[in-house]
Amino acid sequence: MSDIRPIGVHSGDNKFGLQRCPMCGRGPSAHFHTAGNFMFRDGRSSIEYRISALCQDCQDDVFGHFDIEKGDT
Ligand SMILES: [Zn+2]
Repeated sequence: MSDIRPIGVHSGDNKFGLQRCPMCGRGPSAHFHTAGNFMFRDGRSSIEYRISALCQDCQDDVFGHFDIEKGDT
């Protein structure tokens, strides 16, 4: 499975203003060389970050890798 994360969102750019992921406690530098950005796989994940402040890894843990848009919950 490819793990390309082309979309960056600056840390803290979420409704809680959190600089670190609230679930794993990691900051953006722990994931990639992103110059203060959390990186996401797609637009939906970046939008989720703005709501929940969860990094991509934790979103995968919470939501799984399946395609949510298919409604397969
Ligand atoms: Zn996390």
